[in-house]
Amino acid sequence: MKKNVTKLEPPVYVISGGEILTIPFGHSETIQRPDPDGKFFPKTVMLSAKCKMCGSINVLWSDEVSQTETRERQMGAETTYEAKCENRCPTCNAEISLEVEVSKYADGWKFDNYNEESCKITEVKGFVDALEEFAKWSRDANRKADSSNEDD
Ligand SMILES: [Zn+2]
Repeated sequence: MKKNVTKLEPPVYVISGGEILTIPFGHSETIQRPDPDGKFFPKTVMLSAKCKMCGSINVLWSDEVSQTETRERQMGAETTYEAKCENRCPTCNAEISLEVEVSKYADGWKFDNYNEESCKITEVKGFVDALEEFAKWSRDANRKADSSNEDD
């Protein structure tokens, strides 16, 4: 049974190197991210969530993303990744965590599932822009370290 999703669903951010992929939950279309050389591995998974104890919004993340399942389909393998994103709420000191599952098939990514325990996944406007900005700084810093050529 499928219900219609009318509101914007909260996203999860999948980070590989300096690249960030935003995957909204329950989206009918997959998020396309071509990866011809197979180098995009979800190294970090990040999201924002509201603490159920005090209501403050926190960033949760995990650097331990595990590949849980692979199955062959028409256009190659479908791979599922799982991560438990955690943090301690700085406001009330509660441990908050959220388990997420994303999957990749062909060039498409999907945010399949999540399991909220102590918080509620929430979209924070501007959060991904900040992440993108950090990623850009990080890439620029690496580039400057690679060459002595500075052009700003
Ligand atoms: Zn709290």
